[in-house]
Amino acid sequence: MATVDRIAGSIDQALKSGDPRDGHTSAFHPAGRGRDLAEGSAMKPAPFDYHLPATIEEALDLKARLGGEARFLAGGQSLVPAMNFRLARPSALIDINGLMELAAIDEGSDGELRLGALVRHRDLERRPEVARRHPLLREAAAQVAHPPIRVRGTIGGNLAHAEPASELPSVMVALGARMRARSLNGERWIEAREFFTGALSTALRDDELLTEIAVPKLPPRTGTCFLEMARRRGDFALMGVAATITLDPRRRCIAARLVYCNADDRPFDAAAAAATLIGKRIAVATVDAAASAAARAMRPGGSIHASAAFQRHLATTLTRRAVLEADGRAVG
Ligand SMILES: Cc1cc2nc3c(=O)[nH]c(=O)nc-3n(C[C@H](O)[C@H](O)[C@H](O)COP(=O)(O)OP(=O)(O)OC[C@H]3O[C@@H](n4cnc5c(N)ncnc54)[C@H](O)[C@@H]3O)c2cc1C
Repeated sequence: MATVDRIAGSIDQALKSGDPRDGHTSAFHPAGRGRDLAEGSAMKPAPFDYHLPATIEEALDLKARLGGEARFLAGGQSLVPAMNFRLARPSALIDINGLMELAAIDEGSDGELRLGALVRHRDLERRPEVARRHPLLREAAAQVAHPPIRVRGTIGGNLAHAEPASELPSVMVALGARMRARSLNGERWIEAREFFTGALSTALRDDELLTEIAVPKLPPRTGTCFLEMARRRGDFALMGVAATITLDPRRRCIAARLVYCNADDRPFDAAAAAATLIGKRIAVATVDAAASAAARAMRPGGSIHASAAFQRHLATTLTRRAVLEADGRAVG
C-alpha cells in the first residue's frame, strides 16, 4: 500500500495548493505542481493530468474530450498499482470520487436493488439493505482483497476493471444484474452476461461511465451461496463459484445458476450444467453430476499457483458445497 499512499499523498498535496471546487472551479489540472511531481522522482507513475469534476455531466464531457487515453479514477485499487508499475499510462485521470450521487444504495418498490458505481466493497459487506436483498453480494464482497482495499475499492471500478478472477462479476451474472452506462450521447442498460467481453475488457465504450448497477429481486424460495478458494485470505481466487437455487413448494429445483470466477477470461456461466438440476430435489448425486459437467465445460487458464486440472478439481468441490448450502438457504 506504500505506493498507493504515495500517489494519494502527492495528489493531496497538489489539491491543498488550491481546492478545485473553491470559486466554482470544476476541474483541476496539475500542469504546474502536480506535473512537476509526476515528472520528478516523487511519483512512480508516468506523468498525467488530474481532473476532479463536480458533476456527472462534467465527467462525461471531460471523457468525451480527452478520449480513451483518459481514465476514470474510482477507488484506485486496481488503476493506481497498474500506473505505478507503468502497466497503465493514462494521459489524464478523471477522479469521480466527488460525484456523491454515484454512492447511493436504493431499494426500489419492485424489490430491485440499485447500487451506485461508487458504492464501496465495504458497503456491500456492511449495509443492511444489501444483506436483506442480496446476501450473495455481501458474502462475495467479504472475500474481495483485505479491509483497507474494500474501504476504498468500488463496485463500479471492480466491474469496469473486469478481472477474470474477481468475485463480483460472476455474482452479477448469477443475479441477472444490469449495468447503466452513461455518455454525453445518452444512456443504455447492459445485461451483466453481455457486459464482460474478455480479460480486463467490457462492453463499455471509451466515452461511457458506468453509473449504476440494478440487481433484480430474488424469486421466493431462492437460496444463494458464494464460495472460493484462494492461497491466502484476501488473495484473488484460484477458483470461485456463485450459486443460486430456486425451489418450488415441494423443494424441487425450478431454476439454478452456477457462475464461476477464474474459470475463463470472463465470468463463466455453466448454464447447461445448472440446467441438469432443474426438476430434481437437490441431493449429493445430482449436484456431483452438475459440478463435474461445469468443471469439464470451463476453460481455466492455470497458473504457477494452480494448474488448470487443479482449478477444475476446486470447481467440482466448491460447486458441491455451494449448491448444497444454497439449497439449505432456500426458505420461504
Ligand atoms: C492487494 C490487492 C488485492 C486485491 N484483491 C482483489 C480480490 O481478491 N478480488 C477482487 O475482485 N479485486 C481485488 N482487488 C481489486 C479491488 O477490488 C479494486 O477495488 C477493484 O478491482 C477496482 O475498483 P476501484 O474502485 O479501485 O477502481 P479503480 O482502480 O479506480 O479503476 C479500475 C478501472 O476501472 C475504471 N473505472 C473505475 N470506475 C469506473 C466507472 N464508474 N465507469 C467506468 N470505468 C470505471 C478505471 O478507469 C480503471 O480502468 C485487489 C486489489 C489489491 C490492490
